[in-house]
Amino acid sequence: MIIFDTTLRDGEQSPGCRMDADSKLLIARQLAKLGVDVIEAGFPVSSPGDLEAVSKISQEIEGPTICALARTRTLDVETAGDAIKKAKKQRIHVFIATSDIHMENKLRKSPQKVMEMAAQAIQCAGCYTNDIEFSPEDASRSGLDFLMEIISMAIEGGATTINIPDTVGYSVGEEYYVLMQKVCNLVAAHPDVVVSTHCHNDLNLAVANTLAGIRAGARQAECCVLGIGERAGNAQLEAVVMALKTRHDYFGNLQMGIDTRELGNTARLVASVIGKPIADNLPIIGGSVFAHSAGIHADGVIKDRRTYEIMKPEDVGWKGEPSPLTKHSGRGALQHRLKNLGYQLDDATLEKVFVRFKSLADQKTYIHNDDIHMLMQEVMIAQRASSENLFIVEDVDYHRIAGKIKVNVVLKRNGSEFEASGRGDGPASAVGDAINKILRQHKIVNSDLVLKDFNIGKGPGGLEAMGLATLRVENEGKAGYGRGSDTDIILACAKALVSAVNHLLEAPVKKATE
Ligand code: MN
Repeated sequence: MIIFDTTLRDGEQSPGCRMDADSKLLIARQLAKLGVDVIEAGFPVSSPGDLEAVSKISQEIEGPTICALARTRTLDVETAGDAIKKAKKQRIHVFIATSDIHMENKLRKSPQKVMEMAAQAIQCAGCYTNDIEFSPEDASRSGLDFLMEIISMAIEGGATTINIPDTVGYSVGEEYYVLMQKVCNLVAAHPDVVVSTHCHNDLNLAVANTLAGIRAGARQAECCVLGIGERAGNAQLEAVVMALKTRHDYFGNLQMGIDTRELGNTARLVASVIGKPIADNLPIIGGSVFAHSAGIHADGVIKDRRTYEIMKPEDVGWKGEPSPLTKHSGRGALQHRLKNLGYQLDDATLEKVFVRFKSLADQKTYIHNDDIHMLMQEVMIAQRASSENLFIVEDVDYHRIAGKIKVNVVLKRNGSEFEASGRGDGPASAVGDAINKILRQHKIVNSDLVLKDFNIGKGPGGLEAMGLATLRVENEGKAGYGRGSDTDIILACAKALVSAVNHLLEAPVKKATE
């Protein structure tokens, strides 16, 4: 089974997902590590940036075939051919629309002319590589006779992959299956030619249609990481791969070169390059897709994961959180989670934590592990440390200079005042700078605390909600968790940092290994 990734081409066409050449190279490296068979690196004639990206990827990336897109114009094909010339394995992907609506209204060409243009372009591509893909664009809305005719011509002309795009996401599962079956029957006479799917998600059917195409005999699936792409996007690569793997019994044990454990890293890299968060419920990857919130489900999973899990989070490189707790979680679930996080509590302490947990769960949908560390911090500090040992925020003063935040922080502990100034690009780094100075100066720690997982969000309350800062600090193998809320976010940061420092000094948890 050939996994053809078009994140860098069709994916980039999704609104607001423009990627520069260096970002594309970064993603291409990860795609190679993931083990995709083909990387469609771009549409070189469309812009100098895309040409540069495809050339760079061709030069550097080993393993996958590097593919460049071209319309049927000679200049397109030549530019594509030049762009991939340094790749070890090269492919040119030629496309032209074959539906009446596209031929008449967009191309303003007769079917005969379209046929000629396709033939010429395929011939031209043959001068650069013998790995040629042909796509009759809008295939799913094209007249069947003409579609078959142009596919036959393409194969005679030297095309080695026939891709059947559902360009506008119009087809529905069984219909696409029937179409693909017809194409596969036609192509069967040429055992070296591969039939490919390319499905769009306008009706949320991209993955389902892709799988229907594979059932009909397609052996290449075109997809995008995170399912990005034109409009509603393309088939989500992670879902296609995991459907084939999880249901290998149904799909006939198709072999793939994908290391599924890299799916998570790949998705997170693409999300960070395009600067868009991953939807919490995005299949395979989203933060809550392995979350079991209902009590019965959570209980089942604790007893045997297979009761409610068809895939293992670790098999897809998932970095979300195994089942964040919610207000529906009971004592048992909380106790189990605490145990997993390394806390062994007596019943009285568990009760105290549970009370705090319930009140936090009324404010937040999901209670993540970090939240639980914070609850524990509050409980343990209240139990173990005398109040004299705790730092409290006495005063924070700040202003902006040349785009930086400059703060003056005053802390108090056991009647003494500690003061330092700090600066940073944001509130947490500025306050962190000042607090590090205090701790180092008074030899409370030997090296700077490192700030991790800083997050600022909406705190408890309605419209007049306060900012809620949550973060973790790490120092010499130990971690402290803190949160602080205030209507002033810089003060919220200071409170969170100081509570994390108290936690670290009084009841540290072992630093998480990443
Ligand atoms: Mn497309």
